[in-house]
Amino acid sequence: MKSKIQQALETVFGYKEFRLEQEKVINRVLDGKDSLVIMPTGGGKSLCYQIPAIVSQGLTIVVSPLIALMNDQVAALKELGVEADTLNSSVGQAELGEIYQKMRNGELKLLYVSPERLMAGDFLNYLANFNISLFAIDEAHCVSVWGNDFRPEYIQLKALKDSFAHVPIVALTATADSTTQSDILKQLGLDEAEIFLSSFERKNISVEARSGLKRIEQIIEFVKQEKDQAGIIYCLSRKSCESVAAKLKAKGINASYYHAGMNGEDRSRIQRNFQNDEVQIICATIAFGMGIDKPNIRWVIHYNMPKNIEGYYQEIGRAGRDGDPAKAMLFSSWGDFINLKKFIDEGEAEDTFKKVQRAKLDRMWQYASAVNCRTNFVLNYFGEYRAEGCGHCDNCINPPKIFDGSTYAKMAISGVIRAKQSLSSTLLIDLLRGSARSELINRGLDRLKTFGVGRDVPLAHWNHYLTQMINQGVLHLDFSDYSRLKTTPLSERVLYENLEVSLSEFEGFKKAKPPKIEKLPVDISSMDQDLFQRLKTWRNNLAKEKNVPAYVILSNKSLQYIAAELPSNEQQLLEINGIGQKKLESFGKEILALVSGG
Ligand code: ADP
Ligand code: ZN
Repeated sequence: MKSKIQQALETVFGYKEFRLEQEKVINRVLDGKDSLVIMPTGGGKSLCYQIPAIVSQGLTIVVSPLIALMNDQVAALKELGVEADTLNSSVGQAELGEIYQKMRNGELKLLYVSPERLMAGDFLNYLANFNISLFAIDEAHCVSVWGNDFRPEYIQLKALKDSFAHVPIVALTATADSTTQSDILKQLGLDEAEIFLSSFERKNISVEARSGLKRIEQIIEFVKQEKDQAGIIYCLSRKSCESVAAKLKAKGINASYYHAGMNGEDRSRIQRNFQNDEVQIICATIAFGMGIDKPNIRWVIHYNMPKNIEGYYQEIGRAGRDGDPAKAMLFSSWGDFINLKKFIDEGEAEDTFKKVQRAKLDRMWQYASAVNCRTNFVLNYFGEYRAEGCGHCDNCINPPKIFDGSTYAKMAISGVIRAKQSLSSTLLIDLLRGSARSELINRGLDRLKTFGVGRDVPLAHWNHYLTQMINQGVLHLDFSDYSRLKTTPLSERVLYENLEVSLSEFEGFKKAKPPKIEKLPVDISSMDQDLFQRLKTWRNNLAKEKNVPAYVILSNKSLQYIAAELPSNEQQLLEINGIGQKKLESFGKEILALVSGG
């Protein structure tokens, strides 16, 4: 006999198997015990509380800080035939009345609320009148100042354990190092919680990092290879969101931008258009994506380096939620590093906090310039220690070739010495390459002996080598003096003691190879393309009619499976991943008609 949770997985969600720690978490919740779930983005955290909610008597309260995400999850649940609703500022008075009525009638299974709503007035007292089966606290890292997105309103959630001692709590997050994990337990009063840590590795995402030279050209080339695939380009400033989008548009690419400086209406319109595959690419600040639950984002590019590994990994995690191959590409430069450092230095935060932020930024930079497995870098950062290469990052796929770069190091160091330690890295490269730039000529730098000694080495290569020299301490980037390059004790050893400097070769802007991932349960390479397009049109129209994101009706993946398997009756349709009982009832006839050519 199938367990009732397996049954819910199949009939409600249309999935065959649990993923990662899902089943263990669900069983613990049903045992009435507390848990902390750490699972990467796209891992499937929602099911950990949705299935207990569905199979239990009573009401599950889901605390989430993101209104857009709450609305989408509720829409998705309703589409699955599950009674769910949300209380947040986007809900009108009339609707509120209906929701309370449903609660009183015991019809509601899940109620999504923002933390401030939950703790406001005497709402908790009101909830005490109901049979509450579970509290799920999403984005639980927000409760800790050690995390990367602290929200003071989360602190009050400790009251839940005090007021509802008998109700289990499940806290969930995609980002928490071990310090943050213990702090979450402490802040929420979860003394007896079990921690479920799933691997942070996202096997379907191939990761790559490149130097930030000529980013736009590199991006345009990349996007052309990706044809119609949906992607996000994260930029540091609002201005660059707009300018990058404009440059892509000028090349005929379907791109828009999104940032916090736009009005709410424009933002939701762009977000919807992206979710419904009408806009292919969004150039956005990190304000975008938190509330995005689009399973078929195929790539994420960081136009600028993010400020810490937590943010970076969450952002790339928005790609490939459907489990199909996806790509993440990081651009970085010393310019990015210096800008981010300035933000921290000039910020209002306390000194101890600034210290943490600086250390996190340093780690981010080390990641961007790493020559070893990048996935392991992140796993180790989050305390999941592993030495074997991942096989889906640029350094694993194409290991850097190391050579004796002492000659280049000597050129660079002499340049720095002869120019009396007054050069930025750009100016040093120009000097070495014998550039005719007026700043060099005006300052008489063209008369130095090192002028032009490195002209055979292209700019991008110099950039790559110089970064490594700085990282190795052979030169020092002096932030206290306009980021000029200075010599170090190691520079002397290179010049006078022949200390060898190993550098990795510049490999050019190589194409990211697709990662090796487990075979899909269905071979979609031979699917009926026409049928897929017809299914997509049908679904998109329906989504528009119902005013929900397209994937809430059916994911692209389910449509692809249909176009490959060509189900001819309801039983076969139920076999399709993502089609459960309710979706069969709602759409079965229409889909079968489309398949049979109707
Ligand atoms: P998270 O909140 O951890 O980022 P979600 O809960 O949004 O991830 O799940 C990501 C996607 O994976 C969703 O489309 C979800 O329906 C799907 N999913 C979750 N669990 C399973 C499963 N066991 N089998 C197939 N798909 C699943
Ligand atoms: Zn690797």
